[in-house]
Amino acid sequence: MRILLAASEVFPLVKTGGLADVAGALPLALKRLGADVRLLMPGYPAALEAATHRRIVADLGDHLGSGPARLIEGRLGDSKVPLLLIDCPRLYARPGNPYLGPDGADWPDNPRRFGLLGFTAARLCMDESLTGWRPDILHGHDWQCGLAPAYLSAWGGVRPATVFTIHNIAYQGVFDPSWLDFLELPERMMSVAGLEYYASISFLKAGCWYSDKITTVSPTYAREIQMPLQGCGLEGLLRGRAADLSGILNGIDDAIWNPAKDSYLTHRYKPGDMLGKARNKTALQRELGLPMRPDRLLMAVISRLNDHKGMDLVIHCLPDLLMHHHCQFAGLGSGSAAFETGFKELADHHSHHMALHIGYSEPLAHRIMAGADVFLMPSRAEPCGLTQMYALKYGTLPIVGATGGLIDTVADTERGGPKGAGSGFVLEETTPKALTSAVLRASALFKDKVEWNRIAAANAGLDFSWGQSARQYLDLYSSLLRSRGGA
Ligand code: ADP
Repeated sequence: MRILLAASEVFPLVKTGGLADVAGALPLALKRLGADVRLLMPGYPAALEAATHRRIVADLGDHLGSGPARLIEGRLGDSKVPLLLIDCPRLYARPGNPYLGPDGADWPDNPRRFGLLGFTAARLCMDESLTGWRPDILHGHDWQCGLAPAYLSAWGGVRPATVFTIHNIAYQGVFDPSWLDFLELPERMMSVAGLEYYASISFLKAGCWYSDKITTVSPTYAREIQMPLQGCGLEGLLRGRAADLSGILNGIDDAIWNPAKDSYLTHRYKPGDMLGKARNKTALQRELGLPMRPDRLLMAVISRLNDHKGMDLVIHCLPDLLMHHHCQFAGLGSGSAAFETGFKELADHHSHHMALHIGYSEPLAHRIMAGADVFLMPSRAEPCGLTQMYALKYGTLPIVGATGGLIDTVADTERGGPKGAGSGFVLEETTPKALTSAVLRASALFKDKVEWNRIAAANAGLDFSWGQSARQYLDLYSSLLRSRGGA
C-alpha cells in the first residue's frame, strides 16, 4: 500500500507540539508494517538542514503566488522513509516557529504557506511525473493540510482515497474569503457544502468536508467533537459524518520515550524499576535545587501554559499544596505572558519547594518525567495527550482531567477505567478543589510505598506503542480501499 502523509511539523526536524511526534513516528511504524510510505512537509530551514540524503527531485514551478519552489527528497533521520520537502524560500525560509513570526503573531501569509502544502500534496497524488510514484492513500494532518482533499475534489479525475486527522479542533486555520482566489480554488467551494465557515474559509473544515474518512486521536475525543462544547462550530458537520469518523489513539515513540534507553538521564532504568527511578528523583531534585527528600511528593508539569491545559488550576492550587501538604513542584513550559508571570511569581515565593523553567527543553522534559512522582495534566480539553503516556511509561503517576484521550489512557486508582486496573488519578471535575483533592489522594497513596510501586510498575507495562496505532490506521486505509474498489 502506497501512503503519502502530509504534515506541517515532524519530530525531530521541527516541533511545536504533539502533532510533530505523531508525524515523525507514524510513518516509521507504518513502514515497519510493510507500507510504502512517504512524508511531505514544508522545507523550513531546520528541516532542510536536518534531512539526510537530500536531492532535488522536481521543479514545482510557481503556484499560489508563492515564488519558485522545488521538491527535495531526503530521509527522515536514519530511517528508510523518504521525506519530501517543499523548498520554497519565499514562504518557508524564515526563522523560528513554523506558524508565528518573531512578534508572536501568525505569519500573515499562512493561508498561502499552508495552501501550498495542501496543493503540493494533491499534485503528488495526481501527477506521477513529479516523483515517479503515486499514493493509494493521502493522509493529511490538521488544518495546515486541510486543502489537499479540496484540491483533489476541485480537479476531479482518479484520485487516491483520503484520510484527514484532526489533532486539535480548536486550531482551524480560518481566513478571509478573499484568499480563495489566491488559493486557486473555485468560487463554488465557498459554500456551506464546502469550505465556508461563518463567511470565512476554514482549512480544517475543508479537510473534514472533502476527505473520505476523518480520524481524530482518541475515541473519546471523536465523540466529544460531535458535541457543541468541544466541536468548535464543526459539531454539526462531524455528527453528519459520524459514520466516517473514528478515534485512533496516538502511540508513543519507544526509541525516544523509554527510561531504559533515554540518553538524557544520568541513571537509566528499566520501565517499572522503581529503585532506578528513585535515583532519578534525587538527581532531579539536585539539578533543580530542591531539597533532596525522597519522602516529598514531587509533582511536575511539562506543558504549554494555557487554560486548555488547566494551568490556571495548577497556579491556584500550588501555594496550598507546597506550604501545607509538603509537596514539591517542577514546572517546564511556556505560554501566554499571564500564565508565565503567574508561575514565575509562585516560583519566587516558594523557591524552596518549587523549580520553574520557562521555555522549551527536550533534555529537561525527559529528566523531569523520570524524576517526578506525579504528573499534573488537569486539561479541560485533550484530544489525545502524549505526556500522560510518557508518565505511565516512566513510573510517574498521572493526575488528569476527565476529557478526551486522558479518559482513554488513564484509569483512576479508586474508580477504575477502560483498561481496568487503576493507573493514576482522574479529576471528578475541572476545578481547583478537584485538583487539590486528587493530589491529596495521590499523596496519601504515596505513603504506601508497596502499593504505589506496584501501580507504577504495572503502568510501565501498558502498551501504548505505535505498532498498535499504526495497525489501526492500516486497517482503516485497507477498508477504505476495499470500499472504493467495490463502489
Ligand atoms: P500538545 O500537543 O497539546 O502540546 P501533548 O501532550 O500531545 O500536548 O504533546 C506535548 C509534547 O510537547 C510532548 O512531547 C511534551 O514532552 C512536549 N513539550 C511540551 N512543552 C514542552 C517544553 N516546555 N519543553 C519540552 N517539551 C515540551
